[in-house]
Amino acid sequence: MLFLLATPAWGQGFFSLSEEQEIELGRQAAEEIEKKYPILQDANVNAYIERLGQKLVAESGRTSIDYHFKVVDSADVNAFALPGGWIYVNRGLIEAADQENELAGVLAHEIGHVVGRHSAEQVKKLQVTSIGLGVLDAILGRGTSGQIAGLAGQFVASGIFMKYGRDAEREADRLGVQNLYDAGFDPRGMVTFFEKLAALRQEKPNAIETFFSTHPSPQERAENVSDLIDSFPQSSNLIRTSGDFALAKRWIDRLPPPAGVPSEADETSAPTPAQTGSSYRGEERDRQIAAAFAPLFQVGVTADPRYDVPTRFDFDGDWRADNNWRAADQPGFDPQASVYYALSETETHLFIHYSLFFPVDDPRIFDRRARSHENDFETCLVFVEKDGENGQSGRVVLVETLESSRVMKYVPSASLRGGFESIEVQQGHPRLFVDPNGHAIRAFRGDETRELRYVRDVMSYSYTGRSESPLARRGGSNVGYDLVPLYSLWTQAGQSDNEIYAATADLGRITINTRDYRGRPSDRSVQLGQVGVNFRSESRYDQGGAAPWGREIESESARGEWFLNPAASVRRHLNLNDDFSITFLHQPYLGVFR
Ligand code: ZN
Repeated sequence: MLFLLATPAWGQGFFSLSEEQEIELGRQAAEEIEKKYPILQDANVNAYIERLGQKLVAESGRTSIDYHFKVVDSADVNAFALPGGWIYVNRGLIEAADQENELAGVLAHEIGHVVGRHSAEQVKKLQVTSIGLGVLDAILGRGTSGQIAGLAGQFVASGIFMKYGRDAEREADRLGVQNLYDAGFDPRGMVTFFEKLAALRQEKPNAIETFFSTHPSPQERAENVSDLIDSFPQSSNLIRTSGDFALAKRWIDRLPPPAGVPSEADETSAPTPAQTGSSYRGEERDRQIAAAFAPLFQVGVTADPRYDVPTRFDFDGDWRADNNWRAADQPGFDPQASVYYALSETETHLFIHYSLFFPVDDPRIFDRRARSHENDFETCLVFVEKDGENGQSGRVVLVETLESSRVMKYVPSASLRGGFESIEVQQGHPRLFVDPNGHAIRAFRGDETRELRYVRDVMSYSYTGRSESPLARRGGSNVGYDLVPLYSLWTQAGQSDNEIYAATADLGRITINTRDYRGRPSDRSVQLGQVGVNFRSESRYDQGGAAPWGREIESESARGEWFLNPAASVRRHLNLNDDFSITFLHQPYLGVFR
């Protein structure tokens, strides 16, 4: 180990954990793990996993210690090993396995980490990064149980038990596949499970993200073990699956959903906006998809172009709503371009709301200060037909905008039909125009400066991942905008007392179709109740604008539907039949996550 040579005071032998120390460390780390994660308490399932594990242990390269196998009641696909033989497998992983040799392959891999004593390496890393030399000395030499407990605590808190190095993973795979074969299992289970993981990564990236961040790619792992598999003598009676395995799967099937997975019946777990955090699982993926279809906005400009720059609600450094106009009136006001996004997804389609925020709506040109208002929010909906599971490729089918309380519907010219207007879509990016008189969003025609006499100029905005100031750029040159999640404004909309919302509305109960964590049809019903809809505003101005979920829209069956249940809304607007799926895979605003 090179880093040891660089620190000559620490001789290599110094770091060797004795077997007793390793076991004690593992025992205490297991206690920490079981405080932190829910352990499945089903006697049948536990007995099964213990039996399967011990069957493998008997053929492993390290039988001198006791092994313990437990199931973590989590839907995520993962497994891990602690020092000294404590092995945990997530319920989600058992559910993802279709044959016993796949599950056995994972257990054998984890046993491989114990056989290879990989945790001793991890302890060294922990030592180097966070605890003092004296402490390690005490633990390894004359260590008391209390000191080992401290080390075990850090071991678990650092998450290092899930981050074995690449070489350790490779060795665990090779030891594991050998163990699998020696215990009588068809070793190809390991490869088929790797393939399953790769497929699952496309389908449910979040459920499997920890696993992928801590293990080499399945392709690489399959390559690593397949030459070994080829070298094994052919045998006709290798085990692929068993009745025991099928039974264990059935037991799991009948259990209540794992912790953290909302159940239909459990109403108190519904995330009203106040209860949810300010970011959510999968936000980064949503941002990437929103970027792929981010509209090109042509924003009309009046006398003072600063009032027509879409920016962040907290552009002035705070989340107070009723000082935004004042902040925009400051001489140094130099807004940076940003666009809000919110994404929901069904099996076949994406629904991406893009919202533009302006601190002031229409204050100068018309001299109608009384009719102007602070905090203007304008939203459009881009409806995309997915091309496979990768959300970033697909076809824009429809773009909807709001013209006061009416929904305007635009379709790409090629699929133009009665009742719709056409919109230009450039490589997935719809071209929209923003009218400075009220900031309403429409399809861009190109003749706006001629038709609308108050439009002095048109600024082009496109997504670049950077918020740029448009003030220096007049006449045609493009301004880059960044995407920011609407979610933070949504989470504050559920709080009764805040500086953002002036008025709440009862959005009642909203129910959408979804699937439960096993993939079965299910309803998600959320009692939203009073939710912030209109922004606060300084009293001398008119009432502030409304958030996208607070707009009152003629064609909605309930307030908030266009934003929260866009599948139902679009199905009606496009007159689609029952073949059109309104089953959400992802709607973070109602607690449904991929
Ligand atoms: Zn591993």
